[in-house]
Amino acid sequence: MSSHIVLTSHPQTQRNALTGTQIHWGASTAAERGPIIASLTTPAQRNAIGSHSGAYAVYRALAIAAGRLQADHRPDLTDTSPAAAIGPHPQWRDAQRIVSMDPWGHLVAAEFAERIAAGEDIRPTIAVTKAHINMPELLGAIAAGRLTPDGDILNANGDVKVTKAAIDPVWYLPGVAERFQIKESALRRALFEQTAGMFPELVTRPDLKVFLPPIGGMTLYLFGDVAQLGRPETRVACRLHDECNGSDVFGSDICTCRPYLAHGIEVCIEMAQQGGVGLVVYNRKEGRALGEVTKFLVYNARKRQQGGDRAETYFARTECVAGVQDMRFQELMPDVFHWLGITRIDRWASMSNMKHDALVQQGIEVVERVPIPDALIPADARVEMDAKVAAGYFSSWVPDANELAQAKGRGLNE
Ligand SMILES: [Zn+2]
Repeated sequence: MSSHIVLTSHPQTQRNALTGTQIHWGASTAAERGPIIASLTTPAQRNAIGSHSGAYAVYRALAIAAGRLQADHRPDLTDTSPAAAIGPHPQWRDAQRIVSMDPWGHLVAAEFAERIAAGEDIRPTIAVTKAHINMPELLGAIAAGRLTPDGDILNANGDVKVTKAAIDPVWYLPGVAERFQIKESALRRALFEQTAGMFPELVTRPDLKVFLPPIGGMTLYLFGDVAQLGRPETRVACRLHDECNGSDVFGSDICTCRPYLAHGIEVCIEMAQQGGVGLVVYNRKEGRALGEVTKFLVYNARKRQQGGDRAETYFARTECVAGVQDMRFQELMPDVFHWLGITRIDRWASMSNMKHDALVQQGIEVVERVPIPDALIPADARVEMDAKVAAGYFSSWVPDANELAQAKGRGLNE
């Protein structure tokens, strides 16, 4: 690493960067689209804003600062290629369809092999592997006779075969701005200011259209034969899940996250056993993308408010602390379905009207919506469920005003 600090917005760097390969977002092949180079080992080749690995870029910086990682280290991509083939699908060639991930992100080692060998630092933003998963709820479903082991997709010991994909965010800024129906310049300015000027190129380099933001990405869990995706006859089941560490991992009882996730996986396994494909999309958008600190503050405010925790004030308590009810913004969410070539979801294990409407808006058909079975809703999660249903969540019943005014669940210290 050179001893002087290189400002990415510095005119000298700018001139160099202009020699980097241009990105033609939505081009029909990886070669025509061009590699996305956000690595810092070759500043002259950079053609994107931001840095690889999302939020983990900060740990990389720490590792370099602490002397544990060479700043010029480049990944050796030998044997890292996808464990299952995904795409290319026609949606990859549409600049408007996919704007928040690189559809070629798992294929860069193969598609740009010669350029990498020639010294360009081109890195994958997607990795695809295979695994077995096992959750106690699945053993429960087998014991209750809802699931039947087949010795392939689902074993008697509860092991489930999956293909999984990790996806880092790659934003095509004009496309992201268009989804939110805002000006690209307004988007760039807010991103620059709200990261305290972390990425000056957002405002100094309008010619650079691609941004790797420092946020969490997503993980896909696929059940069944992934090669069937993209065929119109393939039936698809899906649970789209936003991270809730408290419930998902630790089983905390104030929401329905883990029970709904487990139910969604059950629906996915059934679909795979019937010859279709099951898909769980797991987004790192903790606490409606407000983060856990905000989330826990809201829990306290809900439990301590006068009149107790009740559905009629559920969204107001979040808004008091966060200023908004939700920052997940489903506008970018459909991209991953386009990436997988999915145009129809036969069984959709989600009650969210926002998620449903975002998919339909993007031309993806939702055939059957599968709500969480009532028996799986923890007692303390009743307030959240009632509030969401009253606000438009998919359900066969709607609570009345009297119901919404009832305090429910445990006290803060119980
Ligand atoms: Zn939750």
